[in-house]
Amino acid sequence: AGSGPPPLTVSGLTVRFAGLTALDKVSFTVEPGSIHAVIGPNGAGKSTCFNVLSGVYRATEGSVRLGTHELTRMAPERIAALGVARTFQNLALSEHSSVADTLMVGRHRLTRTGFLGAGLRLPAARREEARHRERMREIAAFLGLEKHLGFPAGVLPYGLQKLVELGRALCMEPEVLLLDEPIAGMTPEERRHAAAVISSVRENLGISVLLVEHDMGVVMRLADSVTVLDFGRKIAEGTPEDVQNDPEVARAYLGS
Ligand code: ADP
Ligand code: MG
Repeated sequence: AGSGPPPLTVSGLTVRFAGLTALDKVSFTVEPGSIHAVIGPNGAGKSTCFNVLSGVYRATEGSVRLGTHELTRMAPERIAALGVARTFQNLALSEHSSVADTLMVGRHRLTRTGFLGAGLRLPAARREEARHRERMREIAAFLGLEKHLGFPAGVLPYGLQKLVELGRALCMEPEVLLLDEPIAGMTPEERRHAAAVISSVRENLGISVLLVEHDMGVVMRLADSVTVLDFGRKIAEGTPEDVQNDPEVARAYLGS
């Protein structure tokens, strides 16, 4: 990544659905190489925020910028091409595709000669594909998935499927990684491993992480900074300690 990822800046973000303001003038910055968490009770607007950042929902007002790039209202593929990768909350990995092939999908956007060329066995394309496979294996090893590369992704235990999904995003060599409740539904052991992996994405890969999460405990251990949403509004912001000791945050969580 060289000098590190650019900051991801959300300014005055407002999203209205018919009769409902899901996000109301929300602003925060994901600092380069940090883990920034957006937390809040159910219905607070976390996924809406995530979906605007990844281009799935349109902002009604406000802006999202990656460094000098204006991402507001950009299509999801263009946002991804600028280095903002996301995972999907309700994933459905194929039972017919190996873990290796599933991870390779994440490298598609990086190929110049393309996989068609590789299929035709053009020498340059073959070499490029070999390089991509090698990098894919490194990422699999980073996630502890190397033993599973030959297995169908869709038959793995849930926690491993979530890691494959994370691996697919990492294979895109993102500068910013967007994670929407990445450890929801995991066993305690899977959670511990996933939390260590997310922490190491920041430490060892230097990627910024936007972590959308309901569980305060996890956020307290992982995040460098936290934005707390409630009913679409930012009610607190700061270090995990700051927000944990904020009475308004406690009130929001008790009321949910
Ligand atoms: P969270 O992820 O924090 O639980 P969401 O962002 O999913 O919250 O939802 C925030 C509010 O926006 C909720 O009241 C939800 O019902 C509403 N909402 C989310 N997506 C849509 C949509 N596509 N159309 C209408 N309302 C929506
Ligand atoms: Mg949500």
